[in-house]
Amino acid sequence: MAHGEGKQARRFVEATLRGERRPCFGLTEPDAGTNAFAMRTTATRDASDDGAGWRVRGRKTYISGADDAEQMLLVARIDAGDGNKGRAKFILLLVDMTSPGISLQAQPIDVVAPCVQCTVFFDDVFVPDDCVIGDPGSGTGYLFESLNHERVMTSAMACGLGHHVLQKGVEYAKVRAPFGKPIGGYQGIQHALAACKVRLEAARVMTYEAAIAYTEGRERR
Ligand SMILES: Cc1cc2nc3c(=O)[nH]c(=O)nc-3n(C[C@H](O)[C@H](O)[C@H](O)COP(=O)(O)OP(=O)(O)OC[C@H]3O[C@@H](n4cnc5c(N)ncnc54)[C@H](O)[C@@H]3O)c2cc1C
Repeated sequence: MAHGEGKQARRFVEATLRGERRPCFGLTEPDAGTNAFAMRTTATRDASDDGAGWRVRGRKTYISGADDAEQMLLVARIDAGDGNKGRAKFILLLVDMTSPGISLQAQPIDVVAPCVQCTVFFDDVFVPDDCVIGDPGSGTGYLFESLNHERVMTSAMACGLGHHVLQKGVEYAKVRAPFGKPIGGYQGIQHALAACKVRLEAARVMTYEAAIAYTEGRERR
């Protein structure tokens, strides 16, 4: 939405919001987790039909819901891949998951997740120019901008879950009475619940502050 063209927003984002297209996000690789700069998946200009698009080679791992998605927001490198962060150039591509050359492998994980995690292989996958988000060499900036958005969202989810769990704990402490008196009447229980409340409130204030900073465009990268 921030860097794509209007017709891309209509085709991909609006269709997703209407529930007509399911997306997935392809960033992580086996040797590029926290350090996205180590990614090896590359996009090169298509030599057979100059100016028409890009060819993608590589693989992504831990991709949530790739088996169920019609499109992937893919991050690939278009630089020399020499590991120099200052020279890193990434491209953001909207990839049609039915494109020839894409194959999937479901990945067993220990975490209980609502969708399947997949390794996705790209064998010379063609992506047309109208599926490039913004300027091809500026994907690094776009990427970190979107990760900041995701950080705020993840914090909000964690705060909401924490408050929900605390509320359940308080309700339980009011009714659980193994010796006749509810356990919530004892300071040993009250202090632990109060400590949780203090930390959750601090986390909520931090989350709001991060959301305001993001919305105002402060510290985007
Ligand atoms: C359920 C699930 C769903 C996911 N879905 C997606 C998805 O849809 N799309 C996608 O692209 N990715 C997805 N991921 C991948 C996720 O983004 C990566 O797991 C994450 O980026 C961390 O990478 P890694 O697992 O390789 O950990 P590593 O990079 O190997 O890090 C391992 C640990 O070391 C710590 N660490 C690493 N470097 C340093 C350092 N320099 N200093 C201090 N600590 C350090 C990390 O914080 C981490 O705790 C998913 C992962 C999971 C578990």
